Amino acid sequence: MSFEQLTPTMPPRSVDTLKRATIPQLPQTGDLLAQIGNTPLLDLNHFARGLGVSARVGVYGKAEWLNPSGSVKARAALWIVQEAERTGQLYPGKILIDSSSGNTGIAFALIGAIKGYEVHLVMPANISQERKALARAYGAKLIESDPLEGSDGAIRLVRQMVAEQPERYFYANQYNNPANWLAHYQTTGPEIWQQSQGKITHFVAGLGTTGTFVGTGRYLKERNRHVQLVALQPDDELSVIEGLKYLPTAIVPGIYDATLVDHHLGIDAEETWAMTRRLARQAGLFVGLSSGAAMVGAIQVAKEIEEGVVVTLLPDDGSKYVSLGIFDRD
Ligand code: PMP
Repeated sequence: MSFEQLTPTMPPRSVDTLKRATIPQLPQTGDLLAQIGNTPLLDLNHFARGLGVSARVGVYGKAEWLNPSGSVKARAALWIVQEAERTGQLYPGKILIDSSSGNTGIAFALIGAIKGYEVHLVMPANISQERKALARAYGAKLIESDPLEGSDGAIRLVRQMVAEQPERYFYANQYNNPANWLAHYQTTGPEIWQQSQGKITHFVAGLGTTGTFVGTGRYLKERNRHVQLVALQPDDELSVIEGLKYLPTAIVPGIYDATLVDHHLGIDAEETWAMTRRLARQAGLFVGLSSGAAMVGAIQVAKEIEEGVVVTLLPDDGSKYVSLGIFDRD
């Protein structure tokens, strides 16, 4: 084969022509941020029957770990960033800062990587290595707060840092930022309403910043005021369920709306661990502890009613909890 045969028949394009050529746009693609939300609603009925739930009660779980960054918090983080950009509080050169026990921070780190913002996260020093590693993997800078003061200590430290240099930072302030609950009012709530064909009777969710519960609950109540909203917290101050707060002794988030709650349920940490293992082994759902707690709550509600459709939300997957040893037990 001679060289001539391989030479393309088209004349070579000059560098100038190449520079001017536009990138072909494919109609069905977007960046990773466009994949946040629209998670599947999983049918957990077979699993629920195994735990004694009657055949007239449906149990469903929203698979939030399928969001980019691996948790429900991608929704709130994206809304907070977009709202801050829209209102001129966040622009290139500002550092996005917040306190986070993990998932929101990881979501901010991912969004910052895509949009080109520097992200600083204040986290209690004793949070799991996996969480720190994930935030760092996306390029965020970690600032460690006093481990004995938990997430409230991280809140106090971030407030102090922002007060000292307000012009340097955009303080995302997930506990008090209405964009947090609005994300769920505009996405999670409508998705659950549609996916349950308007048949949902009970929504069960844990309280962290309370954004998920408040936004989703508010939307569902507006669609049908009979939908019962069940809020979950650890059953006492010493029970730790990562992602959830014990409100009686915590700094209560500014976005929390106690009037939305129809029922409060206290969840036992031991039962949560057992349920988290059971979900992996009997339903193939490798989820985190707050998902285990959500299922403990959902099953309890489902057993107390004669008929209905119980929907809960499974905030993240199990990978950040492996080092706690949850999955090592029989
Ligand atoms: N579960 C996990 C694992 C979380 O990280 C969080 C957020 N702190 C929640 C549940 C609670 O969600 P929200 O902040 O929307 O109340």
